[in-house]
Amino acid sequence: MDLEKILEACAIIGLDVCCFTFFYSIYKEGANCLKALKEAKQLEMNSELQKKLEDCGGTIPYAVISGKVKALSAPLRTEHFPFLRGVLQEKITNEFKVRWIPGLRVWGPVDNNINRKIASVPFSLVGKSKLFQKKISVEISEPFSAQELVLTEVYNDYRKYDESLGEAIIGLLSREHIVGIKDTENLLLEDTTLTAIGKLTSENGNLIMASPDDDLTYFLTPLTYDSLYKKISSRVSFYKGATVVLGLITVVLLGYYFKKSFSEIWRRICHARDLRRCREARKLKRQSRNSGATQVDENRPKCVICLDNFVEIILLDCGHACLCFSCSEQISTTYCPICRSRVHRLIPVYMP
Ligand SMILES: [Zn+2]
Ligand SMILES: [Zn+2]
Repeated sequence: MDLEKILEACAIIGLDVCCFTFFYSIYKEGANCLKALKEAKQLEMNSELQKKLEDCGGTIPYAVISGKVKALSAPLRTEHFPFLRGVLQEKITNEFKVRWIPGLRVWGPVDNNINRKIASVPFSLVGKSKLFQKKISVEISEPFSAQELVLTEVYNDYRKYDESLGEAIIGLLSREHIVGIKDTENLLLEDTTLTAIGKLTSENGNLIMASPDDDLTYFLTPLTYDSLYKKISSRVSFYKGATVVLGLITVVLLGYYFKKSFSEIWRRICHARDLRRCREARKLKRQSRNSGATQVDENRPKCVICLDNFVEIILLDCGHACLCFSCSEQISTTYCPICRSRVHRLIPVYMP
């Protein structure tokens, strides 16, 4: 294989190995997450909770609880719907553009987030109250660091953007036009039922759920534990399948290029051996000719390259007898100079 083909093979195998590593790392992370979820301690939000926590030394490294959201101070309000009360708020402004895609020769839509503001108030998850029993609540710490947190969209406003003349000219030059602006407001509403999975601790009689240690994933989700487990399980299955497929492709590619390289090396070994035999045959012929033991037939065909020496080599598999010893050594004998088919062997010609 020449350098260009070696680089091409390295690029293809390198790209495949990168994809394999990427998918494998996601699969491994998901599989670890799934294992941790399976081993997480599921706890009921009842009067037993405090006692169970104390039995575990005041901390459960990975616990699952579920309850309704309750603000621990004045809840957040939205100016658009004052009756709504939330504990987490996210205000996003998105800019919608069209951009010229030279490769496809079309205008394509682009959505850019140009502003994001978040606000929060301390909140807890509260368990279902039973008659004559005190409500159990767990304060939620660092909610924005949790995964699978879904806020409810309470407001959105899309405004068409009218470009000024200057902006239109700049847009034409930069091949990009703003077409609209969208404001969105999301809230985590009070009384939403959430499942929290993280480190549960007790501090001065208060129960706190926080981000866990040891690379465990912190979840805060409206899904139930079982639904979340199924969701992550199907994601892990997808990445496992992709990893297996990419692994097989890597093995097939490595096998293909190894076979190709081996064939090429073997061809070169055979070629060197044939040249050596041809040299020996030439030496013997010359000795025989010089001693007068062999008569040279002047009508024998001449080499198609130098047009001077007699044909002394036959090329296989095509069978063209067309080269002398000298030319077979000097020119590339990868392809036959007559029919351009690939040369696998060089055999000395022995005339009667
Ligand atoms: Zn020649
Ligand atoms: Zn040929």
